[in-house]
Amino acid sequence: MTAEQLGVAEIAAWLREAAAVVRAQQARLTSLDAAIGDGDHGLNRARGFDAVERLVNFPDHPVTPGDLLAQAGRTFQQRVGGASGPIWGIALRRAGQDLGDRQTLEAPPLARDLDAARAGVVEIGAAAPRDKTMVDALAPAVDALQKAAADGLPSDAVAPSAARPAEDGVRATTPLLARRGRAAFLGERSISHQGPGATSVALVLRALAGTICAAPPRLYGDE
Ligand SMILES: [Mg+2]
Repeated sequence: MTAEQLGVAEIAAWLREAAAVVRAQQARLTSLDAAIGDGDHGLNRARGFDAVERLVNFPDHPVTPGDLLAQAGRTFQQRVGGASGPIWGIALRRAGQDLGDRQTLEAPPLARDLDAARAGVVEIGAAAPRDKTMVDALAPAVDALQKAAADGLPSDAVAPSAARPAEDGVRATTPLLARRGRAAFLGERSISHQGPGATSVALVLRALAGTICAAPPRLYGDE
């Protein structure tokens, strides 16, 4: 799908693809979390995105991109416990609120929207970059998206630009000492493990790249 302006159909397609990607990677997310956390990561993400997929597939799903994202956030919060329900919930809700009642969005609002999601995650998780959290994938993705949007590119060229920096951010979590979340209790034993939170962010941004894309980016596993 290519689209210079993203409407509710494109956002719905992204959320559907995100659910599929997270489901396909559920076992891997679980094993990443089992190494430095409590092993519920794959199940929680899959449960949340499965519920979001049901919302998207419901015939009367919200008719604006902002409403769809905000409702997806509320769905996540209702369906998923632990830290991930509130964190993914606030990310999706803030993104939706930022879009307001626009019917379509071009690249600059898409970038601002993801930045609003990042700010929500930072606020609720009190996490800074290099704390080995989902912020380590989200922040470089937002930076890349904002730069591409400022260069005047259309949405279908800008959206995929977030995917590769997110994956680079994931790889950079491996040597880090966790400072937030359950992994922080492990101290130095959290080193040499890839961060599960950052990994699931990168999967969702990979889904965006795979859904709305003028030119597919080269991602890890594609080379
Ligand atoms: Mg966990």
